[in-house]
Amino acid sequence: MITDKIFFWVLPVMYGVFTAAFMTLARSDGGSASARKAAAAFGMGMLAIILDTQRSYFPSWFFTLAVPLHWLVLLYTADAFLVRHGEQVPRKPVAMLFGGGLAVNLAATFIVDSVAIRVPNASIVAIAIITLSLPGFFRHRTRRLDKVTAFVVAMCWLCYVVRFAFYFTLDQSQEYAETSQWSQYMMIFYFTTAVFALSLAFLLMMAITADLIARHYADATVDALTGVCNRRGFEVLTEKQAHKREFGAVLMVDLDHFKQINDAFGHGVGDGVLVATSQTLLNCCKGFGEVARFGGEEFVVLLRPADHDAVLQLAELLRTAIASTRLDPPHDVVHFTASIGVALIEADEAIDDAIRRADMALYRAKESGRDRVASARSAKSLPKRAAL
Ligand code: GH3
Ligand code: MG
Ligand code: MG
Repeated sequence: MITDKIFFWVLPVMYGVFTAAFMTLARSDGGSASARKAAAAFGMGMLAIILDTQRSYFPSWFFTLAVPLHWLVLLYTADAFLVRHGEQVPRKPVAMLFGGGLAVNLAATFIVDSVAIRVPNASIVAIAIITLSLPGFFRHRTRRLDKVTAFVVAMCWLCYVVRFAFYFTLDQSQEYAETSQWSQYMMIFYFTTAVFALSLAFLLMMAITADLIARHYADATVDALTGVCNRRGFEVLTEKQAHKREFGAVLMVDLDHFKQINDAFGHGVGDGVLVATSQTLLNCCKGFGEVARFGGEEFVVLLRPADHDAVLQLAELLRTAIASTRLDPPHDVVHFTASIGVALIEADEAIDDAIRRADMALYRAKESGRDRVASARSAKSLPKRAAL
């Protein structure tokens, strides 16, 4: 039938378009392992469908290659999703399945030439591969996209099982290699395959794109050296403060004589001090606030508590924690301290204004000897211009 012919060419074209799209994604922007695996899966899928559906153009045994390719397509598709969570389909059982399945497939082609063995064998191995991948999908369902993906993969598994059960009730008499007569099973197989391939391709596209956006967002808002927020990340944190007062105080933390550390021990050790300081700040502020690197050796801490004594106590704790922080040997001889300026964010005060006051307090802490905490004057006590 002409419709069969068109249908069986539509599928490889669709797979080809997705292969090209995933290859483009894999090449762009440093590439993603997920896009590479997806490109391989859809590329092999295209080949498998051509081999299987256009069998009259190839030597008769050629289309048996479509079966192991089909298994590889399933494996690579599952891996394309799972690699985003640092996982893959367990390799040992998959290798055993491939070995056993391939042996049966070859025997059912060259020794007995039996479709009645080839098709169930192909289905059993396919179902086993999806079954092995399912726990990976269900372990990572924190985001909505992952939940939808896990559901679609579970439906795909169910489809394979139901299709397999159907196989025994369907008319197989028209399946031939040499003609373009297709069995009912094949029509159902390719129709359902098209539905799932299309769904999974779209989900993968969305997942890879979401990962790209998340990576760019992190690059733009996270400091590459220390892993804490950078200035842009800090702005994002404080955007909500105008509508909903989330933070009660701001601390400006500046390492003392940091230039001397760089000069005496080298820039690498200086970087180590910045990383260690960020870790100390993060550990001490967990649950109380947020940490950002404002640039150089200057950090800003936003604290949720708004009580003056509690904030001063926390600032003092940060100061002593930094002074007792050590790098790993052999750099544990490097001692470093920080000075801290503290300002409570007053009612209706913009965070930027509180930061300016904390900065002035920091300047006083430096002037009065460093390694100390100084409290900012109240906004009301400062003339408007003086605060700038
Ligand atoms: P003070 O106690 O007055 O703050 O003195 P300081 O030496 O800490 O301050 P100063 O502003 O004179 O020097 C800051 C130094 O921080 C100069 C710069 O080379 C260094 N620095 C800035 N960013 C980095 C960085 O990412 N890594 C390293 N290792 N050094 C940095
Ligand atoms: Mg400094
Ligand atoms: Mg500084």
